Amino acid sequence: MPFEKIVPPSEGTKITVESGKLHIPDQPIITFIEGDGIGYDIMTASRRIWDAAVEKAYNGARRIHWMEIYSGEKAAQLYDGNYMPEETFEALRQYHIGIKGPLTTPVGGGFRSLNVTLRQVLDLYACVRPVRWYRGVPSPLKDPGKTDIVIFRENTEDVYAGIEYEAGSAENKKLAAFLRNEMGAQFFEDAGLGIKPISAFASKRLVRKAIQYALDRGRKSVTLVHKGNIQKFTEGAFRKWGYEVAAQEFGDVTITEDDLWEKYNGKQPEGTIVIKDRIADIIFQHLLLRPDEFDVLATMNLNGDYLSDAAAAHVGGVGIAPGANIGDEVAMFEATHGTAPKYTNLDKVNPGSLLFSGVMMLEYMDWWEAANLINTAFEKTIEQKIVTYDFARQMEGATEVGTSAFATAIIRNMD
Ligand code: NAP
Repeated sequence: MPFEKIVPPSEGTKITVESGKLHIPDQPIITFIEGDGIGYDIMTASRRIWDAAVEKAYNGARRIHWMEIYSGEKAAQLYDGNYMPEETFEALRQYHIGIKGPLTTPVGGGFRSLNVTLRQVLDLYACVRPVRWYRGVPSPLKDPGKTDIVIFRENTEDVYAGIEYEAGSAENKKLAAFLRNEMGAQFFEDAGLGIKPISAFASKRLVRKAIQYALDRGRKSVTLVHKGNIQKFTEGAFRKWGYEVAAQEFGDVTITEDDLWEKYNGKQPEGTIVIKDRIADIIFQHLLLRPDEFDVLATMNLNGDYLSDAAAAHVGGVGIAPGANIGDEVAMFEATHGTAPKYTNLDKVNPGSLLFSGVMMLEYMDWWEAANLINTAFEKTIEQKIVTYDFARQMEGATEVGTSAFATAIIRNMD
């Protein structure tokens, strides 16, 4: 059925997925959601950079054909107040890859976050956040170059599942009575109650994705991050299921940390991935003091939420932290910051977060040459101290430029 408002580009081919494997044509159609607030500025600048890198890397043999799809305020205008039209989901199901700017969550009146809705409806169960430092980017660490990790955060369950009962409500009283009378649980009167579901299914598919990523990208370890010492049957179970996936599905290419020392005397055999685990609280310290001991991290929703923003701060903050939410058939790459409404249409903010989400997308498509061109040109631009306001205020002698001029400088530095 044709779309109501979405206009497919006149050229380009659909990406396909067969038996879980992505097939990327040389002229793929890729969907984008511009985003609210600063969305227009950062999407316009980033698309110029992605297109220039693809053109430069493949001399016209490859090209992205963009198809705009709608969510947020732009959707509400086009679809008569509907912030999340059904055909946006349908387009993502059909075209498999999307990239989006930030979306406002309308305040009040029965709205769930549009971002959360997208993840839930499309079952984008893995939130992937690479955290690496680019030369010249201001950082609070002495040696930020040691940080090069990728966090896989489970997106669909944990305390985010929305199973919560307000203190004093009838549901809360019913649940409290059941827990006290039938399960022997003890807790204070008038406690709000929330349920933390952690399943084998969701834990295993997340860890499976993290291990597969580590294998595909030549990474050395996957660390399961959990509070299993306290929450034995949820976070502890995540740890157990994580090790099970590794042993049962990747037994020939994974070893445990114990194996590493007991069988291999601390020398990791070529082509293997070490599976280890750390308690969630200490990982924050480890990532500050010994970040080079970590590579891919896999964890549940709440731990992952805290961890990915904290780690992003080590290498330049949310202004440049990229991210993606990935399921089995659809991947959505997206800026990790919000709509920064006070900067709307001022051509001022840093496009880095969206830009590097696009770099992740190019890597996901195996278009490494284009991705690498952007990485190198970005570093060169920062080294020339041509930066947007957020970096300028942390750097001596910087030349502050707007979003579009920053993009122009990056494109120039691809030569
Ligand atoms: P925000 O939009 O992320 O902005 C907070 C601050 O972060 C800004 O004032 C700015 O700091 C800095 N910042 C954000 N993006 C930047 C960029 N590209 N370059 C440089 N600095 C940047 O957070 P918020 O103000 O809490 O949220 C605003 C709206 O965004 C809300 O409606 C919220 O629901 C939504 N939101 C959406 C997403 C998403 O779509 N994924 C995520 C988070 C929030 P300075 O003021 O110091 O310059």
